[in-house]
Amino acid sequence: MRTNADVVVIGGGIQGLSCLYHLAAKGIKNISLVELDLLGSGSSGRSAAMLVLSMSRAETIALSLVAWKEYMAFPELFGESTHFKQIGYLTVATAAAEHELRQELAAQRSMNVPLQVLDPQQVKEIVPAVNVDDLVLGAFYRADGVIDPHAVMQTYARAAKQLGAEINERVQATGIVQENGRVVGVETTAGLISTPRVVNATGARAREVGAWVGLDLPIRNFKRHIFITDEFHAIPPNTPFVMDLEVEWYFRKEGDNVLMGMGREESTSFEPQFVPEFQEQVIERAALRAPILLEAKILRGWAGLRALTPDDLPVLGYAPGVEGFVNCCGWGGHGVMHAPVGGILTAEIIADGKASSMDITPFKYERFQNQESHT
Ligand SMILES: Cc1cc2nc3c(=O)[nH]c(=O)nc-3n(C[C@H](O)[C@H](O)[C@H](O)COP(=O)(O)OP(=O)(O)OC[C@H]3O[C@@H](n4cnc5c(N)ncnc54)[C@H](O)[C@@H]3O)c2cc1C
Repeated sequence: MRTNADVVVIGGGIQGLSCLYHLAAKGIKNISLVELDLLGSGSSGRSAAMLVLSMSRAETIALSLVAWKEYMAFPELFGESTHFKQIGYLTVATAAAEHELRQELAAQRSMNVPLQVLDPQQVKEIVPAVNVDDLVLGAFYRADGVIDPHAVMQTYARAAKQLGAEINERVQATGIVQENGRVVGVETTAGLISTPRVVNATGARAREVGAWVGLDLPIRNFKRHIFITDEFHAIPPNTPFVMDLEVEWYFRKEGDNVLMGMGREESTSFEPQFVPEFQEQVIERAALRAPILLEAKILRGWAGLRALTPDDLPVLGYAPGVEGFVNCCGWGGHGVMHAPVGGILTAEIIADGKASSMDITPFKYERFQNQESHT
């Protein structure tokens, strides 16, 4: 492992790997990434893998627009595929979720995302399996789809290494060394790396790492389960991703199988425990929303964490009060789809001194300051 680097990236999830590649592509040769386990072993390997323009806020749509451009250019940029499948994204709302969906629609209209607003009968025409009896509204965006986050991570890792970056798996950062308010090194389980700059891309552990330099990142981790059924042909292959907004229950095809996700329980552990019994809650909602799914057998599942900020926007850029500490964290439920933009902006901030691809004001740590303590 290098003992000296121009930048150290902590965290080998999809965001850290994107940062690593984009920093290297900016011509910074001596970069080292440390990952406490294996690449993608955090949330990035446990997501539902959706790439979405029909986001709920103008700021996240703006992030998606930048990310989308790079994802679509993967073959030209890297000679690799993201395995993007354009399945579409259908959101359905009961009366309890109608207001929320109307707010999302307003944000999407303000960003010119061409959605179809649907009445329950139109929802049924798009996905006949959906029970629309208690629905009041739907929204469909045809262009959204699913990618393969593992392929994306491998692509970034390979491209970064080709440009001279170093990746260290099973090496944990344990502290930041500072001198006179400046970062001068990262302590790790494999020794010290002297460096003037560090990127905090540690996902669910970002709050802990931020605290090493005195930051109070208001990031809380929420557990979500995903279950995969056996082969299930009653849901046809061209079915879009369906999101039942009221309880954030969703399903989509996963090959011949069906993937279902749900859960927003706060977790104090960084190792989210998979609870097989949670499938009972998932099945309960399936019974209401898409009863045919009761005929599918659940084969396996996993749990992952979404690292959420109070405003559901990420934290990007240099932290105040300590020179050389850059955040790229708080990606919540959007970190896979926004991986390109996280890396692009972080690299611009470090290599060029400022972000130029978009305005990062809404994402700065400073927005949390002068607020009450975030315990
Ligand atoms: C069930 C579920 C479904 C989701 N679905 C979607 C979706 O459809 N689309 C989407 O865009 N997003 C989705 N997300 C969110 C997405 O998975 C995350 O936002 C994204 O993976 C965050 O990436 P990351 O690189 O910031 O974090 P992570 O992937 O968690 O990576 C952080 C890495 O840092 C490492 N690390 C932490 N501390 C240290 C340390 N001290 N030293 C060294 N390494 C350290 C960890 O081991 C980890 O590998 C979903 C999340 C879940 C849980």
